[in-house]
Amino acid sequence: MSEADCLFCRIVAKEIPARIVHETDRTLAFRDVNPQAPTHVLVVPKDHYPTAAALAAADDGLTDEVIRAAHEVAEQEGIAESGYRLVFNTGPGAGQTVFHVHGHVVGGRDLNWPPG
Ligand code: 5GP
Ligand code: ZN
Repeated sequence: MSEADCLFCRIVAKEIPARIVHETDRTLAFRDVNPQAPTHVLVVPKDHYPTAAALAAADDGLTDEVIRAAHEVAEQEGIAESGYRLVFNTGPGAGQTVFHVHGHVVGGRDLNWPPG
């Protein structure tokens, strides 16, 4: 599954450069171009699903792999112990701008709650 005009499908296809930090057979993680914290990495399934809910509905273990990859990124970045935030903005009202599901791994600074 892919979409020719999807930004993250194009990053997965290596048509658009990105600072890749982690890769598995079915997932890719790369630094956010506009980081909101010292660590800000996006973790995506290589297959195209618009939202976390659509990914979970596929029910083939890929959601697990994305979350495992996110934690491995946090370990690599040295923030797994101190803590990090894993955010799936879902829908335009929540700030989702790219409709290829991605988990934001954010950390390396104090994170406030509630989020803005
Ligand atoms: P959303 O707002 O959909 O939750 O997150 C989209 C994220 O993608 C934003 O944090 C934005 O900075 C990031 N982003 C947008 N375009 C690019 C790009 O071309 N490369 C990378 N690495 N990140 C991008
Ligand atoms: Zn896509």
